[in-house]
Amino acid sequence: MSAAPETLQPFPAHPFDDDKLREECGVFGVTGIADAANFVALGLHALQHRGQEAGGIVTHNQGTGFHSARRFGYVRDNFTSAKLMETLPGDLAIGHVRYSTAGSKGRTEIRDVQPFFGEFSMGGAAIAHNGNITNANALRRELIDRGSIFQSSSDSECIIHLMARSLQRDIPERMKDALRRVEGAFSVVAMTRTKLIGVRDPLGVRPLVLGRVGGGWVLSSETCALDIIGADFIREIEPGEMVVISPERGLLSYRPFEAKRSRFCIFEHVYFSRPDSILGGRSVYETRRQIGVELARENPVEADLVCPVPDSGTPAAIGYSQESGIPYAMGIIRNQYMGRTFIEPTEQIRNMGVRLKLNVNRALIAGKRVILVDDSVVRGTTSRKIKEMILDAGAKEVHFRIASPPTAWPCFYGVDTPQREKLLAATMSEEEMRQHLAVDSLKFISLDGLYRAVGEAEGRAADCPQYCDACFSGEYPVEPADMLERGFKLKTAAE
Ligand code: SF4
Repeated sequence: MSAAPETLQPFPAHPFDDDKLREECGVFGVTGIADAANFVALGLHALQHRGQEAGGIVTHNQGTGFHSARRFGYVRDNFTSAKLMETLPGDLAIGHVRYSTAGSKGRTEIRDVQPFFGEFSMGGAAIAHNGNITNANALRRELIDRGSIFQSSSDSECIIHLMARSLQRDIPERMKDALRRVEGAFSVVAMTRTKLIGVRDPLGVRPLVLGRVGGGWVLSSETCALDIIGADFIREIEPGEMVVISPERGLLSYRPFEAKRSRFCIFEHVYFSRPDSILGGRSVYETRRQIGVELARENPVEADLVCPVPDSGTPAAIGYSQESGIPYAMGIIRNQYMGRTFIEPTEQIRNMGVRLKLNVNRALIAGKRVILVDDSVVRGTTSRKIKEMILDAGAKEVHFRIASPPTAWPCFYGVDTPQREKLLAATMSEEEMRQHLAVDSLKFISLDGLYRAVGEAEGRAADCPQYCDACFSGEYPVEPADMLERGFKLKTAAE
């Protein structure tokens, strides 16, 4: 494989965005399209919200073999360079954007940036993984004991080493072998010299969709990335399904895992996915608007204005306003150009904190009773600052309405969450959180209300919930083996 030179400077952590849960990865792949890397770059650009620290693309060209480029930073700052894109020829390509992985919290190294590549006796293969392997520590120990040499700290690299140890005769079969050993959440896009492969774990925790463009095929974390390249959305890859796409045999579908009831991440509906994507046959925007409707039904309050905390609170605020009849207003304006381009701020600028990103529309707010709709409360630090800004602008009352239940448990399935004790809802009751934030009222949508908003008319099924909601309920659909080993305590009967 020829490798383009790799930039060795990681992106600085965003100084103002530590109060949100963060999706850790997005994956994208195409086959049967000339200059596939350009399509992958566009797809990754559309998936940038799923990971902003780094990205990578691997391509295969029949004449020159595999090619790879991995970079820190935004897709648009790297994979738009004609010089770089010329190093990625071929009509088969996969790509990955990442935030961070379970293996390297704090500091990302270029060796942790995917796709990962492995050379096997029957040829090379590259993989890009969205999710988190919950038994990675045990697998890693076993593999190292048996002679594997790991290049990265990423849990995803286990898949390549498990494939290397499989005795199967082709790469898709080796991949099935490998993934049967893996527990947790995985949506994987992979490629060989001739095949594009997509797999979802048996619970289907993270999304993966299939599309067509021209005569080619596309795999993507979300449908919004199909739109950007003009691809048609065909269907979701089913939980527990593997698709193998090749020029000779077209698309073949397999079921390599024991069948289970799916447990898709309900937070994808609330926050992670883009509002212009389709999840489970429904527009994410429409689901979020419906969450606002349920929130207003469950938690009414007399007020003058409903304002979203931009941008993710916007559809829920619209729904809340429509249901309550209280006027909607853009009481907080987001500086669209703040982003991560404000590199290395001084201490003085850092202290300005959230004001650099959000500004209150004073003319609207002064003298009003304001309902602020946000998607979640994680540590509560941003909520406190926003409340202060709203009061400074002359608001008479501030009422928080939150479009998700209290986030009281960490996620171990591919979302970056603070340790449990840092989650406000893990240590405080709703009333204690209200006092801590010093607002007139604070209310969260109930878990049943959230289920109704995503289309489950009867709410959450107690015996076997239809979604993963572990960060709200503490009920983990896959045992977080690595974390238990590190001393994490599961919910007790008394909690
Ligand atoms: S724990 Fe929460 S964020 Fe993680 S997969 Fe489950 S619902 Fe999604």
